Amino acid sequence: MNKNTVAILGAGIVGVSCALELQRRGHEVTLFDRTAPGRETSYGNAGVIARSSLMPFNHPGLWSVLPKLLKNTAASFRYDPAFLAKNLSWAVRFLASARASVFQETTTALDALIRLSTSEHRRLLVEAGAAHRLRTNGWLFLYRSEEGFAGSRLSRETFDRFGVATRVLDAKELSDLEPHLKPLFPRALWIQDTDSVDSPGRVVEAYARLFVSRGGQIKQVSISGLGRSGAGDALQLREEGGAVHEASKVVLALGPWTREFAKKSLGISVPMAFERGYHMHYSAVGNASLGRPVYDTGGAYVLSPMEQGLRLSTGVQLAQRDAPKNFVQLELAERAAREAFPLESRLEPEAWMGSRPTLPDSRPIVGECPQRPGLWLAFGHQHIGFNTGPGTARLLASLMHGEPCDIDPLPFAPGRFLR
Ligand SMILES: Cc1cc2nc3c(=O)[nH]c(=O)nc-3n(C[C@H](O)[C@H](O)[C@H](O)COP(=O)(O)OP(=O)(O)OC[C@H]3O[C@@H](n4cnc5c(N)ncnc54)[C@H](O)[C@@H]3O)c2cc1C
Repeated sequence: MNKNTVAILGAGIVGVSCALELQRRGHEVTLFDRTAPGRETSYGNAGVIARSSLMPFNHPGLWSVLPKLLKNTAASFRYDPAFLAKNLSWAVRFLASARASVFQETTTALDALIRLSTSEHRRLLVEAGAAHRLRTNGWLFLYRSEEGFAGSRLSRETFDRFGVATRVLDAKELSDLEPHLKPLFPRALWIQDTDSVDSPGRVVEAYARLFVSRGGQIKQVSISGLGRSGAGDALQLREEGGAVHEASKVVLALGPWTREFAKKSLGISVPMAFERGYHMHYSAVGNASLGRPVYDTGGAYVLSPMEQGLRLSTGVQLAQRDAPKNFVQLELAERAAREAFPLESRLEPEAWMGSRPTLPDSRPIVGECPQRPGLWLAFGHQHIGFNTGPGTARLLASLMHGEPCDIDPLPFAPGRFLR
């Protein structure tokens, strides 16, 4: 068995980025996915690569809005009570991570991962011939009232503390920047340190093509099991059809499917919840357009200009990953977006849905699995996996090679949750 072989499970942004980085370091890499690369969560996101994403959902300001969120009527957050009851220990740990000390650790860790990822994305976009998809003109947080803006103080202070370049805009400055937005927002925050792309799915496809052009292999199969071969150190992957593949190392990058796979195949309990979200594409009235993604904080949606049209993405729906879709937040988001921008028609018959895979401290797990040499983990990227896939790959590859890492690996260590 060639000691240099790596099998990567999952060809979303995280798996594909890991494949490229490990290949660059001389490994013989095979990517396994039951669909084509970048067709699941990494397809449907808002395409934002933002320094501001260092703010996790569970920050200290969550406590003051929690009573309102628990009423289960907000557009920004809904939950299935049965899912919450079943995942109570996840919820308790998630809330416990909103305290100031964990917030400090998480923002510091995510800031480093995001900065590393931004430069990696820029390099990869050029190498993959996809640089034309990149915008470097920031994104906008929109506020429907002065009170709404005042309520964003913790975020703004955090951005300042980490040196994220922002500019506060009044209604006139906002209208100069995005003239097709309706005059609904007295204030906006322009997060200038932000890139975005016009099709995250196509970007992952381009990265996967780059991997193949450099000699990498992609196998479109569903993997049903993972174990150790009787002879020696090799790990064995079992295809649903029964075929077996061997590799000296395996990287688990199954996004929201990791929890189920780790339990069934390895008996490992991963504390992951699913923050489901929806998107729909729209045409615009006349020649109305947006130059960059906008986040309407009061309306609880992001509207991003995409190749397919204007992509409206919704907030969080905490529910079982495969439970039936519930479009209530999309309907509320659409109503709010129509107040803010001249949207015309829906461009698809049904909304897309995906699940943000979230661990209790809002940091991904990146590193070797405790007690299972050769099994490497890269999952749990919550709202920012499209952004942080390439930085995750750098971190994982440095750890695998026993080299100094670009960023502190400890906040991402698997031992936080796995024994
Ligand atoms: C509405 C919404 C908006 C978002 N907006 C942003 C954003 O603007 N910026 C940002 O950075 N992030 C955003 N995110 C989050 C981001 O999309 C995710 O964090 C990221 O895509 C996770 O990537 P992944 O590679 O871990 O998972 P995935 O992309 O889901 O990849 C996992 C892969 O595993 C495969 N797989 C699963 N089981 C098996 C099996 N048994 N055998 C073989 N293959 C299998 C799947 O087919 C899939 O391709 C958003 C998410 C949502 C839902």
